[in-house]
Amino acid sequence: MAARTALSLLAVPLAFVSACAPELYKRDGVHPIHKRQHIPNTIADTRGWTFDQSEEWNTLHADWGYCMNGIQQSPIAYESWMGSSQKHQPTFNYPNSVFGSLNNWDFGPQFTYDDSGVKPTLHFEENGKNETVYFKSWHTHAPAEHTIDGWRPKAEMHFVHYTADGTPRAVVGFLIDRTPQSQGSEFFSQMADSPDFRSNTTVADIEINLNIAINEVLGYTDFFTYQGSLTTPPCKEGLRWFVAKQVIYMSDLQMQTLLDRSTFSARPTQPVWLHNVNA
Ligand SMILES: [Zn+2]
Repeated sequence: MAARTALSLLAVPLAFVSACAPELYKRDGVHPIHKRQHIPNTIADTRGWTFDQSEEWNTLHADWGYCMNGIQQSPIAYESWMGSSQKHQPTFNYPNSVFGSLNNWDFGPQFTYDDSGVKPTLHFEENGKNETVYFKSWHTHAPAEHTIDGWRPKAEMHFVHYTADGTPRAVVGFLIDRTPQSQGSEFFSQMADSPDFRSNTTVADIEINLNIAINEVLGYTDFFTYQGSLTTPPCKEGLRWFVAKQVIYMSDLQMQTLLDRSTFSARPTQPVWLHNVNA
């Protein structure tokens, strides 16, 4: 008897919701969930999209069709049976010191190289051609966008590289998680004195060593790679993706700090189609 009472109480609000939602949907063409999230969200007003809307990015702008009809969309759900790549070994030619600015890209910390000094480059082979691309920036996502055997680490960092003519061409991914045993990531400890990433300020003249991240994933020798896309609009394809299988481990405090300065920023994994994983 007690259980039946509980059930009937539950039935009332459910009936109310199902009666009201379609009407709202019809009235202004905006799903009530998206509408509710959009109103206080100034990110959508400046960018024209949010991660909450990722399933309908293609409807938001005439040039964002790839987000729905692309054949090499990122991120993907990697499975162990796909193995490690024996090809496309990335070679990093990063100076030990690069200068740039730190800000928050609305979803987490971002570093943008200021184009001074020796250019940090990445070399890899694709279709028999040796390519050189140029590091421009890194940013983080929380939680991670790529998954391994269904496991989603707490965060992910992307080193974004462009061709000489300014086209995004290669992304070097790092999965990030925490462990109580970790003394902390040395790479992220370089930003210990950085400003509060949640603010709108950009702080210039920050010096970092990109090679420390490469060292923290054991030289980037065990990785998976595929042909993919930007994970945000316009979801442009033609990018070589690398994701190290070794995770960067943070201390609990570092992870808490990173998450405190982040907002949800993981596009759902996309079906593996013509991605040529590790091929
Ligand atoms: Zn990214």
